[in-house]
Amino acid sequence: MPVEPAPLPGLAIIGGGPAGLMAAEVARAAGIEVDLFEAKGSVGRKFLIAGKGGLNLTHGEPRPGFDHRYRERQEAAAGWLDDFGPDALRDWARGLGVETYVGSSGRVFPLDRKAAPLLRGWVRRLREDGVRFHVHHRWLGWTDDNALRFATPDGERRVHAAATVLALGGGSWPQLGSDGAWQPWLLERGVDVAPLVPANCGFDIAWSDHFSSRHAGAPLKPVVAHWREADGEHTLQGECVVTETGIEGSLIYALSAQLRETIARDGEATLTLDLAPGRTLERLQHDLGKPRNSRSVSDHLRRQTGLGGVKVALLYEVLGKDRIGDDALLARTIKRLPLTLRRARPIAEVISSAGGVRLEAMDDALMLARLPGVFCAGEMLDWEAPTGGYLLTACFASGRRAGLGAVEWLRHMQSHSMQAAPM
Ligand SMILES: Cc1cc2nc3c(=O)[nH]c(=O)nc-3n(C[C@H](O)[C@H](O)[C@H](O)COP(=O)(O)OP(=O)(O)OC[C@H]3O[C@@H](n4cnc5c(N)ncnc54)[C@H](O)[C@@H]3O)c2cc1C
Repeated sequence: MPVEPAPLPGLAIIGGGPAGLMAAEVARAAGIEVDLFEAKGSVGRKFLIAGKGGLNLTHGEPRPGFDHRYRERQEAAAGWLDDFGPDALRDWARGLGVETYVGSSGRVFPLDRKAAPLLRGWVRRLREDGVRFHVHHRWLGWTDDNALRFATPDGERRVHAAATVLALGGGSWPQLGSDGAWQPWLLERGVDVAPLVPANCGFDIAWSDHFSSRHAGAPLKPVVAHWREADGEHTLQGECVVTETGIEGSLIYALSAQLRETIARDGEATLTLDLAPGRTLERLQHDLGKPRNSRSVSDHLRRQTGLGGVKVALLYEVLGKDRIGDDALLARTIKRLPLTLRRARPIAEVISSAGGVRLEAMDDALMLARLPGVFCAGEMLDWEAPTGGYLLTACFASGRRAGLGAVEWLRHMQSHSMQAAPM
């Protein structure tokens, strides 16, 4: 039997990732009673996994360039970052005894590149400040009379909250707790939710067995990607990795939104790679035009262009044995190797997800128009950004915005009930 609904004195926060914890911090600092519910046995599991890659907390890129990383949502994100931007985030970490540094790529990391000390110190401080943590509480939606339903080891528990912040994360790496199960519960209540889709993801390519068995795991660097958008052609230099099923890596992640949208529209996307960014087409044509004599194409390529290994294998994969001997075509293909991307990798294995609660469904304080008193924050909102610390920065900043919004809402409700009370 479910435990009967119990009223909470203040704010219920559901989800103990960076967004939920930050909402808890600001609400508690404003004197609100905070109960934080988390499905897993501990909070911040995805944050800890991010620490395995060095914990790229934010980025040193100056604004407004920073804001542009949030694409269609840059205006909303800029508002969150005005209140709590990359510098404020670094100061906040310093307040927990964690100094940060800007790496050569502009990415910002803690000095020890670990997430655990930061998370441990933060949770300890939140507890000391009076935030009540309820782990092993999996939210199941609402009852008909708007109580929050939780599955707990002791059975279903129901609570009425005066205000709620949902910070349930996106859909990637569901084993860490964020499984996107919340989508139907919000949809049923008329909240506009864009389906969760993979972001910062690899893509499948129909490699031949020969190629994938020999070259999966091989890094491709440096390469320059070319792609077209409505405003013309764009280029980006970076690195990627051949995988058994296709391609991934930071360069691909940076383009994944455009590539995903092209696949959704056209059924496939062509990624064009320059395998020899340091050499012009003219120079390649000239060098490859030199007599090959009895040397193999691979040998000729290595001597004349410096290309070897996986790059040469890619040229064979795309051109086939019949056409690889055509020097002019070979030179053009080195500069513009076309790869056909079939589909994004499944959401469960990618870094982050796009889609989620549409910002149009909420006000500036991140309160849902259809559910007054319910706020949303973090990756469960419909924005996306590349890797580089932009994801965590927006999760912290939107968590803060939602937490402060809930504080205002609770104060507003309190002043209303005092006005309504009989003299
Ligand atoms: C491998 C990996 C590496 C990453 N590295 C970086 C990086 O270096 N830099 C960066 O900026 N970003 C990185 N990210 C992305 C970043 O970790 C996420 O964007 C961020 O953690 C999202 O924060 P959040 O608070 O919105 O959600 P989450 O961190 O996902 O937290 C949501 C919480 O809600 C809980 N929850 C979900 N559903 C329920 C429910 N029904 N009931 C109760 N609780 C629930 C979950 O258990 C979870 O604890 C990485 C992601 C991955 C997978």
